[in-house]
Amino acid sequence: MQTKILRSRRKTLSLRITPWGDLEIRAPLRMPDREIQAFVAEKARWIEIHRTQVLRDQAQGALAPLDEAALEELKEQTRQKLALMLERHAAHMGISYGRVSIRCQRSRWGSCSAEGNLNFNCLLALAPEEVMEYVAVHELAHRKQMNHSPLFWQEVARECPRYIQCRRWLKQNGGALLARARRGRE
Ligand SMILES: [Zn+2]
Repeated sequence: MQTKILRSRRKTLSLRITPWGDLEIRAPLRMPDREIQAFVAEKARWIEIHRTQVLRDQAQGALAPLDEAALEELKEQTRQKLALMLERHAAHMGISYGRVSIRCQRSRWGSCSAEGNLNFNCLLALAPEEVMEYVAVHELAHRKQMNHSPLFWQEVARECPRYIQCRRWLKQNGGALLARARRGRE
């Protein structure tokens, strides 16, 4: 388990288990390290329980197939969450994009056409938010590089510093998630 401390202008400490099972600590700017360590030690049991839960939920979430109504609901959730992410990142990257469609697919998470139309999988709503954001950035980066060259990955890394973990998450959990959209629709 990796531990990461994020300091900011906040008054209290908070802990979070990331989708990859690491510990993220949010702390006030000037709080001494030993105070943070003492807090973490005190919460050791909570951390272990939640970490186990996060990793187990991921392994199990893959099992149940989704019916038509559930897929429609996911489509809407994905559409709403993605709209904000796309807007923010496209502005930051200085690029434009065309139509956005959300589909229930079994093979891919997203795509970007030569005309700049973007297509995303409705199952992204079931992935960690970081992963959805990575997929959004990935497709937007194709507006600059229509390939997977080192230049393309540089674009992605600039916008989504944790893209390596996100890719790993998709590699490990993506297949099982895609299998939940039964019916063989593409
Ligand atoms: Zn790509």
